[in-house]
Amino acid sequence: MQVIVNNVFFTLQEDESKAKIKLLKLLNVEDKEIQDFKLIKKAIDARKKDHILIVCSFLVNLKHPYKFFNTNIKKVNFVEDLAIPQIEMVKRPIIVGFGPAGMFLGLYLARAKTRPIIIERGKSIEERIKDINLFRDKGIFNGNSNVSFGEGGAGTFSDGKLNTGIKDPRIRFCLKEFIKHGAPEEIYYEAHPHIGSDKLRNVVKSIREEIISLGGEVRFEHQFIGFESRENLIVKIKKDRGTMYELKTDDLILAIGHSARDTYQMLYQQGLYMKPKDFSMGVRIEHLQENVNFSQFGKEYKNPKLPVADYKLVLHLPNNRTLYSFCMCPGGEVVASNSAENEIVTNGMSNYKRDFDNANSALLVNVKVNDYYQGSPLDGIEYQRKYEQAAYNLNCPYFAPIQKVGDFLKNKTTKKIGKVKPSYKPGYYFANMENYLPYFVVESLKIGLPILQSKYNFFKDDEAIMTGVETRSSSPVMIPRNEQGFSNIANIYPCGEGASYAGGIMSAAIDGLRVGEFIRKKYEK
Ligand SMILES: Cc1cc2nc3c(=O)[nH]c(=O)nc-3n(C[C@H](O)[C@H](O)[C@H](O)COP(=O)(O)OP(=O)(O)OC[C@H]3O[C@@H](n4cnc5c(N)ncnc54)[C@H](O)[C@@H]3O)c2cc1C
Repeated sequence: MQVIVNNVFFTLQEDESKAKIKLLKLLNVEDKEIQDFKLIKKAIDARKKDHILIVCSFLVNLKHPYKFFNTNIKKVNFVEDLAIPQIEMVKRPIIVGFGPAGMFLGLYLARAKTRPIIIERGKSIEERIKDINLFRDKGIFNGNSNVSFGEGGAGTFSDGKLNTGIKDPRIRFCLKEFIKHGAPEEIYYEAHPHIGSDKLRNVVKSIREEIISLGGEVRFEHQFIGFESRENLIVKIKKDRGTMYELKTDDLILAIGHSARDTYQMLYQQGLYMKPKDFSMGVRIEHLQENVNFSQFGKEYKNPKLPVADYKLVLHLPNNRTLYSFCMCPGGEVVASNSAENEIVTNGMSNYKRDFDNANSALLVNVKVNDYYQGSPLDGIEYQRKYEQAAYNLNCPYFAPIQKVGDFLKNKTTKKIGKVKPSYKPGYYFANMENYLPYFVVESLKIGLPILQSKYNFFKDDEAIMTGVETRSSSPVMIPRNEQGFSNIANIYPCGEGASYAGGIMSAAIDGLRVGEFIRKKYEK
């Protein structure tokens, strides 16, 4: 019999190796009844700063069946593996995009022996790193090889956070695959699992190698530029130096992410149905990580059993908007994640150790379709672009506008940096953020920041830095699919974040697997 035992508490002074003693007590069984047990969830409860607890869940295999009346003990049938049967198909499937959605779909289809061909406009991780460093150090931008495009997709130069709002049995499978390919083992049980950008790079490469070893292909610097759909699908691809070629397939998967604006445009012109959707805009805010740690954990904040602190906050404001933190990166840095020339877009990343001085997080306000819609499903993209281009300053190309929180609240352009040093590269310029964001985003920040300052100590810091503009937390477009997984055009499957079926690394990976299952069903005899 398999059970999950939730709410097993440890104080910071207690030794977690005593887990079995606690389990025996909670289950009220004899020692020999427990065949084995495994930690599957570990979280910190710091609501009482003088009594911080580590809260764990364990999966326990018991020798005999029992009835339990304790609500913390649940009978389960725990699934960690995904059955991937061989799929018999004539033509090789084509996946566009090698982000988390394309990678996990690629893995699924390669294990199903379909020898997928993956088309990725960006470069392999080894080459991509060089381009990103060139941009960060010298401001030389490459439109096909940057923080948004290239091997591993937008997730590679990220914090590598794997938490997701969705509940899905495939999560365990994804976590196991990440670990198998080099991610730290603790992601399996941490409540807020994260890999870190430094480790993610090797994970991504290892997944590519497995796909290739199973007969799949990853074609870097190849861009999907169009298709014909009559009796058969013909996919048009451009190699980096401009040569074009075509491939025939019966299954074309679009895992293009939310930043491939030229690809959206082409797909729209070719008749792919899409609709506008709500998204969010705002700034990245940086605080000293030490202040966040102290604010969240109190005097225990240096205890080695505690992680680098994070936060998540939501405010529903009187102006009918929501202000919320998103993609908080402890001990990380603010990164440029524009995908085209002459734009400024912020995001955040961190390495495994999360040991940089600043904590950063997006501080976002919801943007409704009504705020921007003028008749085209791509209007949201235009709206984003308008603000991204306004933030681009010809006098200091690719530098981002920054402002101290105190100055923003007093409507003053910042003149001098305080103790929080902006981490954005290649550089920054002083600005008044009011000029770079929609009025309702500015209004919401002005209402919300004082409330946050009254609730969280680290928000009281007037020298905290705001860097703009954060426009790409989610896709402004949805490409709907039917119960077979098709778009309005048969055999074309929208997938991942670009189609609005995911919002983050884990949910994109899961959506890749979901599309794999659509394809499996299509060929089931
Ligand atoms: C800096 C940064 C930090 C982030 N941090 C986190 C985090 O910590 N946790 C988290 O959950 N999420 C994070 N995210 C978001 C996360 O990365 C995305 O949600 C996720 O990568 C989406 O996966 P995807 O596969 O759908 O698309 P993407 O990862 O965007 O991948 C799409 C791929 O398609 C390729 N492509 C596009 N068009 C074409 C074309 N025409 N031809 C060929 N290839 C094409 C692109 O080059 C790209 O590699 C972060 C994003 C950024 C930018």
